[in-house]
Amino acid sequence: MALAQTSRSITILGSTGSIGVSTLDVVRHLGRETFEVAALTGSANIALLAEQARAFDARLAVTADESRYNELKEALAGTGIQVAAGRSGLIEAAEMEAGLVMAAIVGTAGLAPTLAAAKRGADIALANKECLVSAGDLFIKAVKKGGGKLLPVDSEHNAIFQVLEENQRHALERVILTASGGPFREYSLAQMAGVTADVARAHPNWSMGLKISIDSASMFNKALEMIEAKHLFDLEPDQVEVIVHPQSVIHSMVGYTDGSVLAQLGCPDMRTAIGYALQYPQRASLAVERLDFAKLSRLDFEAPDEIRFPALRLARLAMTRGGVQGAVLNGAKEVALEAFIDGRTGFLTMAEITEKVMTELSNLPPASSMDDVFAADAEARRLATSHIA
Ligand code: NAD
Ligand code: MG
Repeated sequence: MALAQTSRSITILGSTGSIGVSTLDVVRHLGRETFEVAALTGSANIALLAEQARAFDARLAVTADESRYNELKEALAGTGIQVAAGRSGLIEAAEMEAGLVMAAIVGTAGLAPTLAAAKRGADIALANKECLVSAGDLFIKAVKKGGGKLLPVDSEHNAIFQVLEENQRHALERVILTASGGPFREYSLAQMAGVTADVARAHPNWSMGLKISIDSASMFNKALEMIEAKHLFDLEPDQVEVIVHPQSVIHSMVGYTDGSVLAQLGCPDMRTAIGYALQYPQRASLAVERLDFAKLSRLDFEAPDEIRFPALRLARLAMTRGGVQGAVLNGAKEVALEAFIDGRTGFLTMAEITEKVMTELSNLPPASSMDDVFAADAEARRLATSHIA
């Protein structure tokens, strides 16, 4: 039986996406006595957003797509649920009173609303890794200044967060991020050159949104996660390691100075990481599949190949250079990814374009404010676009 507790309020930025839907599934499972829903945001899928807002009795529903405001308003007519749209609507959702905000918008579009939530002191369950990749230490500082907790949702970072003991922080030697290797783990460069977005989106183990699935195939997702880990756990670039582990059972590991390695394991289901972030420091009781070690029988590991997956090398470059290089890498990559999805550029070209832009912008000074981060992101997008046209 669940213990009686006061219900907390939660806002979900990006509730209609893969993480958003799983978060609402966990919220439903935990029950109304645990969470009440403040605001939900989506973009194009108005039918799902309206259905979620009704089902969870949200106070506010926001579509990022301004042209769909009327559609959302009509879908929620007579419910008493407030409706808003566009960038200002997203900020309104982030600023609405709620103790916990799940940041699950994809890409740098999530940065401004997540920052708004952090500044007012909400606890942030962070799936939107691009916040940390682009804004890095400035984002961490904003959360600290606001006074809320930063709870990693990305499965690798959530795993590290689960096993990293704060009182042993001084003895931390390295973190080891596991990577499935994606659908092209065994492809040659020549094979990868010809793949389409439809093939690239088919992840072997995890069910995720379109962009992160393709980023997993190119290992840009792991590249972003390396930078994310550096900022989250305050690491030097050479303390962030990557190992390919095709079964995705070990979600990541922490290595200490005495040679010990601690790992978090589980079936590949984001609801475990989401549940941990939502209930921290307690553990949720979740109806996810349990690991059956007898059926599993083996776990495999191999070193990542930075020739076929240059994104990993680019992440190291961004971490070593520091400053706004994370924002540059991510901005250029997002433009190249959109172009790949639309069939305007090839799979391997995504890393080539990103590297070119990183070289062109290697001398940008470090950011002293968020405006500098947004400017670096915009400049990287402009240059990447010029290389695709
Ligand atoms: P998704 O594409 O399934 O959903 C994205 C959400 O963001 C949707 O609600 C969509 O409406 C909203 N959105 C899209 N563009 C927007 C814009 N311009 N402005 C405002 N909202 C917009 O993505 P996802 O797979 O749920 O991933 C969300 C975030 O979580 C990403 O940063 C991803 O890297 C991270 N993440 C996802 C997983 C996963 O298993 N899906 C795991 C780890 C981390
Ligand atoms: Mg991950």
